[in-house]
Amino acid sequence: MLALRPNCECCDKDLPPDSAEAMICSFECTFCRTCVEEVLHGVCPNCGGGLVARPIRPAGKLKAYPPSTERVLKAGGCSA
Ligand SMILES: [Zn+2]
Ligand SMILES: [Zn+2]
Repeated sequence: MLALRPNCECCDKDLPPDSAEAMICSFECTFCRTCVEEVLHGVCPNCGGGLVARPIRPAGKLKAYPPSTERVLKAGGCSA
């Protein structure tokens, strides 16, 4: 199950579980669409894998399967 991390690892922008902006790699490194497009160019800076749009968990499932509250920030940020 996806953790649904609450923020972008690059810019710390909030990415709630219903955000259409959240993008993830296969390890679930999580970034916002702006960073993916303008800084990362579609490649995860941690693992080198591709980034795809994170699926949105239906609101009715969030109570039983709540999103992660642990904010992950990439040390040193994400410079191009
Ligand atoms: Zn970002
Ligand atoms: Zn990754």
